[in-house]
Amino acid sequence: MDDNSTLEKIESCVDCKSCMEVCDTYNVTQNELQSPNGRLKIAHKIYTNEEISQEELQGIYTCTLCGLCNLFCEQNIDISEIIHSSKIKLVDKSLGPLEIHNKIIKGIEESDNSVNGNPNERLDWLPKNYRENEIFEKRESDTLLFLGCMSSFRVKESASASYEFLKTGNYNFKILEKEPCCGEYIYSAGKLELTKQIFKENFEIFKKNQIKNLIVTCGGCLYAFNSLYPKYVEGWNINVKHIIEIIDELEKSDKIKFKKLMREITYHDPCRTGRKLKNRTIYKEPRDLLEKASSKVNELSNNRNETPCCGAGSGIRGVDSTISIKIGTKIFQEVKTKEIISSCPLCVFNYRYVNYKTQSDKEIKYITDFLLEALESK
Ligand code: SF4
Ligand code: SF4
Repeated sequence: MDDNSTLEKIESCVDCKSCMEVCDTYNVTQNELQSPNGRLKIAHKIYTNEEISQEELQGIYTCTLCGLCNLFCEQNIDISEIIHSSKIKLVDKSLGPLEIHNKIIKGIEESDNSVNGNPNERLDWLPKNYRENEIFEKRESDTLLFLGCMSSFRVKESASASYEFLKTGNYNFKILEKEPCCGEYIYSAGKLELTKQIFKENFEIFKKNQIKNLIVTCGGCLYAFNSLYPKYVEGWNINVKHIIEIIDELEKSDKIKFKKLMREITYHDPCRTGRKLKNRTIYKEPRDLLEKASSKVNELSNNRNETPCCGAGSGIRGVDSTISIKIGTKIFQEVKTKEIISSCPLCVFNYRYVNYKTQSDKEIKYITDFLLEALESK
């Protein structure tokens, strides 16, 4: 959308405020500058070159870009898209991103990851029994299991359990010895030119390794490869699937089997495995599998397309972690089970942080880690 069309869209807002009550950053802060409607007003100032205050700048960067508000706007305004394009404008005006974003982006450029991980420890998740035989890029396969920064460094069992499933199902795939960051963080921070450069470099790596299919564990990587790379990378022709779609295929073709664990769980849909994706959603596969592997799958009151963000999307934890904790706590209050399962390692990481900060007794698991416990012996 060009600037005039964006401004026109912003000005079509009739101030009905129906987007406000669904926005969790507004719900937990009660600060209008941290609401969809308030952020649109800040975007208007950015697009008309009016000066904005520090609080308004904070309002833009505390949006999780979850996209929930878009569903409730009677004027059909793509509010989250406008908030994101305002971030790109702020970069153009040298007013953004914030210092914390620049620090993390520097880490991505220097160490290929967004979580301050030591690149030499990137493969620490690789199960010992497979390590000796892993030949990485040399394996004959056009399918790459791409783990991403969160799975590789922060929720390592999401990487190892996913790898284990593919091995158990005799799936032909490879992993990279030196994996790059997908670049979604940089995109969310509004640095579009750098994003395009990183996307292009990553596409070159995939081409060099004859990759035609990507399997990912992270909602952010899925969103990037599914919805952003096709838009920004010329010639992009790589299919992407979430690991849970592959496990569902393995189970349906009888290559793996589950036993029922006598445990009730609650499943949380990450916004980046559903609402944020272009032309697809991954709602059925996790539920089909979890129903086989648990005694009962509980739902949050809002789920699937209306799922709440876990509170960590779009780098908000670095900007104001108290908002992430409050959003997570609000979700915990309606969860009746001890175990919460998610298909995104960032949600798992944030919920564990909330659990620790609020001294709750929840157990938060990445979906393949839970399913692995229910896998019938090989
Ligand atoms: S995208 Fe999500 S966090 Fe941002 S304004 Fe909309 S509902 Fe609020
Ligand atoms: S729902 Fe749409 S029209 Fe109503 S206040 Fe929000 S952005 Fe404006």
